[in-house]
Amino acid sequence: MEWVGFIFGMIVGSFLNVCIYRLPVSQSIVRPRSRCPQCGHSIRSLDNIPVLSYLLLKGRCRDCGARIPLRYPLVETLSGAFAAMAVARFGFGGQAVLMFALIAALLIITFIDLDHRIIPDAITLPGIPVGLAASFGPGLISPLESLIGILAGGGSLFLVAWGYQLITQREGMGGGDIKLLAMIGAFLGWQGVLFTIFVASLTGTLAGMALIFRRRGNMKLAVPFGPFLAVGAIAYLFIGTELWSWYIAAVR
Ligand SMILES: [Zn+2]
Repeated sequence: MEWVGFIFGMIVGSFLNVCIYRLPVSQSIVRPRSRCPQCGHSIRSLDNIPVLSYLLLKGRCRDCGARIPLRYPLVETLSGAFAAMAVARFGFGGQAVLMFALIAALLIITFIDLDHRIIPDAITLPGIPVGLAASFGPGLISPLESLIGILAGGGSLFLVAWGYQLITQREGMGGGDIKLLAMIGAFLGWQGVLFTIFVASLTGTLAGMALIFRRRGNMKLAVPFGPFLAVGAIAYLFIGTELWSWYIAAVR
C-alpha cells in the first residue's frame, strides 16, 4: 500500500507548496486558484499535477515561460516519499495519517523558516492541542507523555533562550522555535523531544561550523534552527527507537 501513500503524499505536497508560499504573506490558502507569479495567469488543472506537470512543462510556465522553482517538485517528492515511509513504518491506517500530518506541518515550517526566518504560529499553536488530543487514541505515546513532552519541549528551549540572552545580551533563539518544540513534544512525547534536541543540536552545530568556516569573521549565527528541529523529529519517527538502543548499548 506504500504507493497509495506516495501518490496521496504528492497531492498533499502540492497543497504544502501553496501553504509555504502564501502563509507568510497572509494570503488565503484556498482562494484564489494558483497563479504564475510572473504573468498572473491561473494555472490549469492539467498543469497542476504534482511533479509530472513540472517535467512535462520542462520547469516553465505554459503562458510566459518563466522558470518554475525546483522547490515545487522537490517538496512534492519529499511529501510523497515521507507518506510512503509512514505507511511502511506504521501500517496503512490512522497512525500513519497522524504521523504524516506532523511531517507535513514540519515541511511547511522548514521551508518558511528557510525563506523568511519565521516559524508560523498558525501551524505550531493549533498543532499542540491536536498532538495532545491524538495521544488519547491508540498510538505511540500516552496523554501524560504528550503533556510532559509539551512542557519539556517548550520549557527546555525557553531556558536555553533565556540563558543565552542573559550571557550574551542578545536574542538568539526565537519564540517560534520554542512553540515548534512544544508541538513536537505533543506528538512525540518527552522521549521524542530529547531525541529531537540531540539530533538538532548536533546537525545544527555542524552546519553552523561549516557556515562560519566559509565566511570567517562574521560569527553571528545566521542559521535558522527550525529546519534542524524538523530533521530531528522526522528522524525520531523513522529511526528513533533503533538509534536510541544503539546509542545506549554503545555508551555502556
Ligand atoms: Zn507565467
